Parts: sequence; C-alpha cells; structure tokens
Amino acid sequence: CGIVGYIGQNNIKEFLLDGLKELEYRGYDSAGLAILQKSELKICKAVGKLENLRRKCADMKVEGFGVGIAHTRWATHGKPTELNAHPHLGEFSYVVHNGIIENYKELKESIDAKFVSQTDTEVIVHLFEKNLKELNDPLKAFKATIDALKGAYAILLITKAAPDKIFFAKEGSPLIVGKNEEEIYFASSDAPLIGHAKEVHYLEDGEWGVAAYGKVTLFKNEEHIEPDFQPLTINKE
Ligand code: GLU
Repeated sequence: CGIVGYIGQNNIKEFLLDGLKELEYRGYDSAGLAILQKSELKICKAVGKLENLRRKCADMKVEGFGVGIAHTRWATHGKPTELNAHPHLGEFSYVVHNGIIENYKELKESIDAKFVSQTDTEVIVHLFEKNLKELNDPLKAFKATIDALKGAYAILLITKAAPDKIFFAKEGSPLIVGKNEEEIYFASSDAPLIGHAKEVHYLEDGEWGVAAYGKVTLFKNEEHIEPDFQPLTINKE
C-alpha cells in the first residue's frame, strides 16, 4: 500500500501513475487517483494491477496546474473492489489513507452522510466535511478530523473548499513531503520522489498540515513547526 501526491503544473497524472509504480513493492490489491483543477475533479480507480488503472485513466486529459492524490490499497476493511478503492469521496472532498482507523464505526454513527464503501477510510472524508460545515475553516476542520481518529494513518485530503491545497497527516504509517522550487510532492517512501523532489522532510508521528504551491505549513500536534527539508540524495540504480 502506498500514497503519492503532487501540487504543480508538470504532468500530474504521469507523476502520480509513475509514483504508484515505484510503490508497487509495498503490495496492493487496487489503486486510484484524483486530480483537482480549479473546481473540476477527475478521478479513476481500478482493481488489480496498476496497468488496469493506467488504462482506465487513459482518456483523462490533465493540463496545467492542479493538485493530485493517488493510492495503492491493501484492503484491511472491505473487499478489494473498485468501490472500496481510494480516493474516497465526500460531497466536495477526496481522501486517500494508508493504515487503519480503529474507531471508524463509532465515528460513522455520529455522521449523517451517505456511505458507499465498506472501508474504515471513508469516514475521514465525511467527518472532514461535517467539521468544515461547523467550523468554516478547512485547516481547523482537518485538525478536528485527525484529532477524532484512533489508529494508524498517512492521509492526504483535497477539497473544493480549498482547491489548490493538500491537507496531510501522519501517525504510524510513513509519509514524506518533498519540494522542487515551488512544486510539492508527497510519497510513502523516497522511491517516487527521486528525480523529482530536490529536498524532502520525513514526517514524524503527530505531524500534519497543509501544502500549497511553494509552501508547506507544518504542525506537530498543537504546535506550528518548520519543516526540516534535506537534500534528497539517493541515487536510483
Ligand atoms: N484501511 C484502509 C482500507 O482498507 C487502507 C488500507 C491501506 O493501507 O491501503 O481501505
């Protein structure tokens, strides 16, 4: 299972598909990606090999600036079907997640939304949208969402409420944020970032925040911190 994300204008779809390929070694049963450009969403998912996803996405035309998230799934809750593949959709937001949300059943009961998958993950996106309606601030809504989660997660969330941004959080599952000038990258391991990101920050448990083009705003629990960007030096051999 793995996660890839990108903010910028250079071949988003290709970067996401190639990035998932680099994470194949982690194992997966299905995959998917979502790209938001202004307020237009493009999404595709497929069961089985990444070639299936590539084929499904073949007609997706993506040019210019956008934000994108992608995922290979190793099912823990719900069968490996296309419906259970990530990204999971709310009304106006989309999430990918690696890990397990242990309290998803309780959370689900507190939310009046239409659930379409059997995953533990889907609750994240509906909880975010519920919180956003109450708090009217995407960053606060995201923080309230991760505060409610018990378990392990690496999360990327995009939303039409803040269409140029990616919200992220890490607790127990790996996640890296990278930069190349203004372009922003996310991945579960170095592999997808090599040849793209010049510098990387390895997120620690409890770290979360929001990324925009050229800017990563990072927190550790309640505290605002500076990312510790280091050159990505590994050679791809
Ligand atoms: N628990 C989630 C699911 O079953 C995420 C699994 C993963 O880490 O890929 O959909």
